[in-house]
Amino acid sequence: MNIDFTKAPSPSYLIDERLLVKNLEILKQLQERTGCKILLAQKAFSMFAYYPLIGEYLSGVASSSLYEARLGREEMNKEVHIYSPAYDDKDFAEILEVSDHVVFNSFGQWAKFKEQVKNAPRHIECGMRVNPEYSEVETGLYDPCAPYSRMGVTEANFDPEALDGLDGLHFHTLCEQNSDALEHTLAVVERKFGNYLKGMKWINFGGGHHITRQDYDLDRLAQCITAIKEKYDLEVYLEPGEAVALNTGYLVTTVLDVFENGMPIAILDTSATCHMPDVLEMPYRPEIINAGKPGEQAHTYRLGGPTCLSGDVIGDYSFDQPLQVGDRLVFCDMAIYSMVKNNTFNGIALPAIASYNEEDGIRVIKEFSYDDFRSRLS
Ligand SMILES: *Cc1c(COP(=O)(O)O)cnc(C)c1O
Repeated sequence: MNIDFTKAPSPSYLIDERLLVKNLEILKQLQERTGCKILLAQKAFSMFAYYPLIGEYLSGVASSSLYEARLGREEMNKEVHIYSPAYDDKDFAEILEVSDHVVFNSFGQWAKFKEQVKNAPRHIECGMRVNPEYSEVETGLYDPCAPYSRMGVTEANFDPEALDGLDGLHFHTLCEQNSDALEHTLAVVERKFGNYLKGMKWINFGGGHHITRQDYDLDRLAQCITAIKEKYDLEVYLEPGEAVALNTGYLVTTVLDVFENGMPIAILDTSATCHMPDVLEMPYRPEIINAGKPGEQAHTYRLGGPTCLSGDVIGDYSFDQPLQVGDRLVFCDMAIYSMVKNNTFNGIALPAIASYNEEDGIRVIKEFSYDDFRSRLS
């Protein structure tokens, strides 16, 4: 059954639970087939209303900060893993209260916090993030292996004398990639760090695996996992963010005005910079239901937001009918890196958060107000 988007608030992020479950099934099957453990990387998708559901399929969460770790503990309460480029003294005691795995980014940090971990109120497994200096990511902003990277310990800086107490290694070098890139990366990780894996309990393959994408080669991923598990007798963790909620959500928006300036322009009640910042940062072009590339259909418009940033432009799209004030436009793949990154620049209100399933139809989970804007500013 199709969703009646006119019944959703505008603007709103709307998650189609049926599609989320479809992704979760794929991930769960991979866990069952290979014995690996899959964590939700919360930085991509932290809509905790769905954490109980996600927890039925996945093994826990990966966190980038104390707050994410705490959210994962409070709302899912399965395995909580944390990695940060550097931990702050003032957070660390609380991190140890909510986490199961703590991954360090340098041997300096490991030396600094090692004793505190040993004396923690719960058993904590520790890992070191390594930087294999091999990546197939082409965008500099997303390449953790670029020269002078601050992500992970390189082979030259690895200290084999300081491994006592470390249970695992972690690497994260992929971004929206297929399993061939993982296979190539693993060969380098093994060559540089394989010797150290022998005494360890686990390896974490990080995120960036686009596992739930149509053309993803699951068999090759399964082979990678099984080969490492067997060769080194390790538990294998994966912590995808995007893949969990890929193509499961929409941003429902409305046309506020239409006018001409050399070409037809439409202003929407949503902003690229406030509500879909990756459109400008990545950058990328989100799909709109029933719209085409410029010129593909009869009427082409430049779509922009209501902020005063000149570059608040989502892109050029074509439609078979002229756009009218009040028309609904629905952007696709807006579950990930949207709610977690939005902001109230210019005093633009935050989109509501809604869900859809067959039993309940559209359910509004959260609406935001002036107070959400105001509360951060003084
Ligand atoms: C970003 C990140 C992830 C998740 O990446 P996706 O591209 O969303 O799958 C996982 N682990 C670490 C350490 C990350 O930085």
